[in-house]
Amino acid sequence: MTLTKAKMTNILKSDDEKKATALFKEAYKVKLANIGNKAYFRGIIEFSNICTKNCYYCGIRKDNKNVNRYTMTHDEIVDSAIWAYKNNYGSIVLQSGERNDKQYIDFVSNVLRDIVQQTDGKLGITISLGEQTPDTYQHWFDIGAHRYLLRIETSDMDLYKKLHPADHSFNYRVECLKSLREIGYQVGTGVMMGLPYQTYESMANDVLFFKEIDIDMIGMGPYIVHHDTPLNNTVDNSPEANKRRFTLGLKMIALARLTMPNINIAATTALQSLHPLGREYGLQAGANIIMPNITPRNYRPNYLLYENKPCTDENANDCIKCLENRISMVGESIGYNQWGDSPHYFERKHKQV
Ligand code: SAH
Ligand code: SF4
Repeated sequence: MTLTKAKMTNILKSDDEKKATALFKEAYKVKLANIGNKAYFRGIIEFSNICTKNCYYCGIRKDNKNVNRYTMTHDEIVDSAIWAYKNNYGSIVLQSGERNDKQYIDFVSNVLRDIVQQTDGKLGITISLGEQTPDTYQHWFDIGAHRYLLRIETSDMDLYKKLHPADHSFNYRVECLKSLREIGYQVGTGVMMGLPYQTYESMANDVLFFKEIDIDMIGMGPYIVHHDTPLNNTVDNSPEANKRRFTLGLKMIALARLTMPNINIAATTALQSLHPLGREYGLQAGANIIMPNITPRNYRPNYLLYENKPCTDENANDCIKCLENRISMVGESIGYNQWGDSPHYFERKHKQV
């Protein structure tokens, strides 16, 4: 479907709840027609909150001194991956703060190697480890990671500058997305919605940006305040503002689905932070990926990118059961033991041959 920038801007701006419901229904129909009603799991392991960067919105930014920094051990990470495999998750995501030193790169390489070996290469592996050199991306790909998530955060260069210190580069992030694609990863990106200074038109442009770079996967969610961050003072954190961010989150999923019918779209945890059934609503607005948190419970309170992150006191076993019920409640089934790759990725690969 062709949605113009003006049309998308109006949809995002509108307060009409009936129109929003109709939009979600339309997007859900497009999802069913193109990729069916299966939701795929990516068990996310947030293995380290050490970060060398200073994004103004993020709770684990380098200069936040109120964070207990941790890195899970090699064995803890591999055990979590094996747990996901044994529990039929199909895929995992390894995520951390950004580091570019050799010790970290080697650590990740060894973890990846061990996970591939111990799961006979049958577990899908997504990584979300920030900006790295093309050589590092290639190295991790060669070991067996095959999807990469790197949010552009906003496609608006001026807004990007307001949200990051001067040494963070929008252009380099775009270069990273390009090199990931050249290497052969399924590439995912995304943005936050409801950021300070962000306009509706800017979010409409985000959808056009995803389409333009021909992305395979999207993981995006509402911006949520973290008080120990520089952005804190500039933000309206009222219940009304957060409700608006939540609705924007759903609308952006729907617009992305209508524009890109066969990509993978995640119903992210940030949606759940703003509404207990946020992820289920996300599935009904066109998303098809759920990322249950399988980080060992003792580490979770220290991976607070934002406040009120859900499931910080549940363990992975509880989460599976509650998720299963909640997903079937909205008429979706879970693609257990399947990678659930982005159909769009195979389509574009096929076109290249
Ligand atoms: N360091 C890596 C991966 C971890 S951060 C990276 O930055 O790519 C993962 C995502 O968390 C970021 O891309 C950002 O979009 C999101 N995030 C950070 N702070 C947030 C906040 N306050 N509200 C919502 N999402 C946030
Ligand atoms: Fe670090 Fe990622 Fe947070 Fe930025 S968003 S401070 S890179 S963890």
